[in-house]
Amino acid sequence: MTISIRAVEKQFARYPALRGVSLDIEPGELLALLGPSGSGKTTLLRIIAGLEFPEAGQVLFDQRDVTFASAAARQVGFVFQQYALFRHMTVAKNVAFGLDVRKAATKPARAEISRRVDVLLGLVELGGLGGRYPSQLSGGQRQRVALARALAVSPEVLLLDEPFGALDATVRKSLRKELRRIHNATGVTTIFVTHDQEEALDLADRVAILNLGQIEQVGTPAEVYDNPASAFVCGFVGEANRFEGHVENGRFVSGAVSFPATTASGPKLGFVRPHDLTLSVGEEAGFDLHIDRVIAQGPVIQVEAKTTDHRRIDAAFARQDVASLTAGTTIRVTARKAHLFDPVA
Ligand code: ATP
Repeated sequence: MTISIRAVEKQFARYPALRGVSLDIEPGELLALLGPSGSGKTTLLRIIAGLEFPEAGQVLFDQRDVTFASAAARQVGFVFQQYALFRHMTVAKNVAFGLDVRKAATKPARAEISRRVDVLLGLVELGGLGGRYPSQLSGGQRQRVALARALAVSPEVLLLDEPFGALDATVRKSLRKELRRIHNATGVTTIFVTHDQEEALDLADRVAILNLGQIEQVGTPAEVYDNPASAFVCGFVGEANRFEGHVENGRFVSGAVSFPATTASGPKLGFVRPHDLTLSVGEEAGFDLHIDRVIAQGPVIQVEAKTTDHRRIDAAFARQDVASLTAGTTIRVTARKAHLFDPVA
């Protein structure tokens, strides 16, 4: 199923929640909608689901205009942050629900429903737990049931709104891997809302980054990280030190910070990822950092430091590349890579 969003506009009491959003989602793709709180992720997901309708623009499923079709007519499966399982039903009944409520003409035979429930519970690694009630499950297990329930009706599209948001970090990480595995097994086109950039980059084939109701960039995790299209994306995806400054004579300068730059002269916003700072050697010009704290994390040495004009900088070095770094000392660094943007007006 190809999903095309065309120039969608949505307002709530004259507040523009979505401003001209266009996006194409390929068949079988796992796409993450990533953005800060209030950027419009859930609104876009609900418009794709048929739970909300836009003031302008179109939603196409395989070229079919479904902009104003009901959620039921769209054959979508949902998983929300809140488990939304039926408490009085067993796990198996919960998973079977979407099939049980079908009209006789399209309802599978009881034995077929039961077989399908078993397959799905196996897929989400809850085999044998069909007789339990939701209250007898952990939060992570409940979300697996919600996922199995959404998949039971063989949806053309699976929509997930912060499905792991209420779970602790360890469970989140393991469910993330599970979702990727399940997606690979089912191949269902999946759209996943999250405000957690690590989750989006880890899980998705492509990431669409929303800000203030607009899409700033769509790309693979590597593309948005390595080549951010805007200052917003650069600051939102991954860690970055941010500098307001200007380019002159082939260098970016911001107070005591200065490094080589290839863009045209003029005011710029500069971003440098912590691991793109390198120790400056020989005659190479750089800038000084006073080290406040050194944190050795496996193969990486994280450094919290200050510039000579007292701005906080995060740096990260491969352990094999640096001899010994000690808090209280000063190092000279330069940026091997930086992202420069025109300042927003
Ligand atoms: P979060 O991560 O906090 O869930 P989000 O990116 O999903 O945020 P949306 O829930 O889509 O953002 O909301 C976008 C904007 O639209 C917000 O400013 C929100 O307050 C507003 N909004 C959303 N739903 C409604 C509604 N039913 N009535 C009024 N305003 C709404």
